[in-house]
Amino acid sequence: MRLTNSQMYGDAALKRPQMAATNVLIGATLFMRCPYCQHNDSKVLDTSHDNHGGIRRRRECFKCGQRFSTYERPILATPLLVKQDGSREEFDREKLARGIRISCAKRPVSAADIERTIGQVEAQLQKLSKSEVSSRIVGDLAMKGLKELDQIAYVRYAIVYLGLDDLQSIRNEINQLLEG
Ligand SMILES: [Zn+2]
Repeated sequence: MRLTNSQMYGDAALKRPQMAATNVLIGATLFMRCPYCQHNDSKVLDTSHDNHGGIRRRRECFKCGQRFSTYERPILATPLLVKQDGSREEFDREKLARGIRISCAKRPVSAADIERTIGQVEAQLQKLSKSEVSSRIVGDLAMKGLKELDQIAYVRYAIVYLGLDDLQSIRNEINQLLEG
């Protein structure tokens, strides 16, 4: 899930984009700095939970009395990816997104469906709850998602990801699709 400015900085920041709310951690308590006057303490007027595990709080600054909203969400860690040569790299959501978007170019697939597929790959990686996984898993998950989304996009992705460089192996892949 990508956050909008409003979710990250509160509604006040939308009206005054130059004044983004800043998180200030003091002990175990999270104070939100007022986007208007930078005061560190505010009254929570109400709290609501959304179905993504996020918490939205309506606040009122103790000092200047302006109201703003803040949004907190849990961020799950993605495992480190172990490449074939044994080196490690961080999961790169943008790299995955590029590969999937290119595969879906000019296909009847909506931007929302593409985003959802990318999000699903990321969520599945997080759910593995491992510190390291083989980098192949990312491509495997992407192929699984694309297979359900659009078969042409799937074949395009498979050609690049599996490194299919001859017609026979591409035909084998397509045959498997047709049989499945
Ligand atoms: Zn204030």
